Amino acid sequence: MAVIPVTAREFQLAGKFVIQDCPECLTRTKIEPSVITLTFGDDFDMFMGLREIRYRFDCPICGARRPDVYFGTPEQPLTQLEGRSKRA
Ligand SMILES: [Zn+2]
Repeated sequence: MAVIPVTAREFQLAGKFVIQDCPECLTRTKIEPSVITLTFGDDFDMFMGLREIRYRFDCPICGARRPDVYFGTPEQPLTQLEGRSKRA
């Protein structure tokens, strides 16, 4: 059985990351797990703490508070998400 990454450190090792999706400026940016381990520590629970991540990181482009956040994986990078409608 594959191990599902839970902590920030495990996310880092698995190449997973957090996507910030700002409804104000419609910008989608990536938060590297290394930034999250620096902020919250290696053992930070990414699932339990997703709300905390949302509250902590403002949109880097327009500074909007609490942009939407969700998880990204190497198999589903930002470009694929952005091109979603074209591929369908
Ligand atoms: Zn923004």
